Amino acid sequence: MMETAPQKHLILGTAGHVDHGKTVLVKALTGIDTDRLKEEKERGMTIDLGFAWLSLPSGVLLGIVDVPGHEKFLKNMLAGATGVDIALLVVAADEGVMPQTREHVQILDLLETKQGAVALTKIDLVEPDWLDLIETDLRRYLQSTFLRDAPIVRVSALTGEGIPALIEELDRLAQSTHPRPIDVPARMPIDRVFTITGFGTVVTGTLVAGTLVVGDLVEVMPQGIESRIRHIQVHGKPQKTAYAGSRVAVNLAGLEPTDISRGSVLAAPGSLVPSTVVDVSIFVLPDSSRPLTNRTRVRLHIGTAEVIGRAMVLGADRIECGTQGLAQLRLEKAIATARGDSFILRLYSPMELMGSGQVLVPNAQKHRRMDSIVIDQLKQIAAGSPEEIVLKAVSDSLFGLSFSDIVKKAGLSENQTTDVLQRLTASGQLKMADGKYSSSATYESLASQVKSILRDYHEANPMRSGAPKELLKSRIARSADQKDFQSLLTLMSREGEIVVTDQVIRLPDHSPKLTKEQATLAKEIENLYTSNRAQPPLASDIEQQYGTLGRRMLELLVEQGVLVKIAPEMLFHRDVLREIESVIIDYLKEHGQATVAEIRDLVGSSRKYVVPLLEYLDSKRITRRKGDQRVLAKG
Ligand code: GDP
Ligand code: MG
Repeated sequence: MMETAPQKHLILGTAGHVDHGKTVLVKALTGIDTDRLKEEKERGMTIDLGFAWLSLPSGVLLGIVDVPGHEKFLKNMLAGATGVDIALLVVAADEGVMPQTREHVQILDLLETKQGAVALTKIDLVEPDWLDLIETDLRRYLQSTFLRDAPIVRVSALTGEGIPALIEELDRLAQSTHPRPIDVPARMPIDRVFTITGFGTVVTGTLVAGTLVVGDLVEVMPQGIESRIRHIQVHGKPQKTAYAGSRVAVNLAGLEPTDISRGSVLAAPGSLVPSTVVDVSIFVLPDSSRPLTNRTRVRLHIGTAEVIGRAMVLGADRIECGTQGLAQLRLEKAIATARGDSFILRLYSPMELMGSGQVLVPNAQKHRRMDSIVIDQLKQIAAGSPEEIVLKAVSDSLFGLSFSDIVKKAGLSENQTTDVLQRLTASGQLKMADGKYSSSATYESLASQVKSILRDYHEANPMRSGAPKELLKSRIARSADQKDFQSLLTLMSREGEIVVTDQVIRLPDHSPKLTKEQATLAKEIENLYTSNRAQPPLASDIEQQYGTLGRRMLELLVEQGVLVKIAPEMLFHRDVLREIESVIIDYLKEHGQATVAEIRDLVGSSRKYVVPLLEYLDSKRITRRKGDQRVLAKG
């Protein structure tokens, strides 16, 4: 089972054209000015990465990386984009989509960023009509990107308008974003190195995997320098432990700042092997100005590193635009990466974006370009093991997939798929409910979202026995269909995480909390329903007498099953209803049929009640109509 931190830690990265308001928006969200360099202050422009943090209402801790928008500083943006879990695309309402808007979105997309929100900012500068136009335009552009379903929030960092709504959307996204694994070797690409008098060398970065603990031995790669962690700061506070998904500053013992620089990696000792030869798969952008030909000089951006090298294309002469291929990168300086790491490729000169790729073999042997054995091996590594393929297929869908969908998506045989599913379910990586498989990681993140919504709901509505299903669905699964949502609920109640009744959903330890007066009132209202038997008060009568509190009591009594709603505004006490039912059944057994008037006299009620009552019994398949008579539904 993948383990996660006690509290959820995620990284948010800004994106967007220069001057569109990224830095000022981060300040409005967090109170932190991320432009820390003197030159940045003077020029009023972000040059290097800036850092801030935000504690979201649900408790998720968000580390924030603010990137420069100017194209001259794209390499800094690329270093900042590593480890981003949630993108915050910032678009100024007075300008709309601009070149670096597109470029940043493309880069985050290539790095397989899954989630994001869009802030349409500077709304104080434009007229509402214009804003609508810009938003329509923006939505159209986003359609072809990973942000196609992202919320667009209208904000002004100047007036503060929309900032709370933006925080709410970010919180929602944070809850459905998978946390990074912590039970794997620690890895932190370094983005800053500096000294603090009396402390020595400090490095900062985004901890992309694992945990760092004060006292741990670590290794700075690719230099291979061993060191010990003296102090850790997370979000500006000293900590004993840092978890993946955090922005971290680490004070290292016995290390000269000149030994290392941005691009180095802080890693668990022995977990990474430095190399200048790396086998990769590469995707060349459809709109790249040229294909990737053999021996092209490229800039590899991986983690926070930028390294120059040549791409030896394997098994072909070139990788065409819009296609994928295999290559071996021969680099001028060593890097330390792991299989599966994503990277961005730029042309050496001019420095245009060419494509992206994944590391297949982090420390490769040099091989001949057309060696078919090597190429087959690399193809297999690129495709992944059957387990990896199935896990990826399932993880990509929020609510899981059916067996036949998995067979289709994974491209494996039915027999093989069955085997793999069995293994993955047995090892706890997949869960199955209502004929659908979902990844445990996805399940955990949805489940924690459901639980947090329920906690909030119970707190805001202590009198209610639980939250209505529809409310939950609209909060976590607006786009999902009812069946998917139901299978999530099935799984959760099977695991004992929630209780699902006909009416509501609640946490197992929740029960409605009434004040003494409220409990007395509930009893009083209940008594009205038992004493008035077959002519009970309408909901509106109760409201007239007791106000809105009376109506809420009715809802509570219905949720508890004490009262039964048979028509809008019309409720019966469950004991009375049971008696009426058996009187009618007995009568019909004896006489075969009865008119409305006969039943009215039989139960001692009036037409006003009896007509809806019989319709209710019809719907429960106890009675049915036959002309103007009622008979028993089951003969
Ligand atoms: P960045 O390059 O995307 O980081 O942009 P900045 O955050 O540095 O902002 C660029 C300029 O836009 C600055 O002069 C800000 O004062 C201004 N600005 C940012 N947000 C707003 C806003 O919501 N309203 C207005 N009127 N100006 C803004
Ligand atoms: Mg800025």
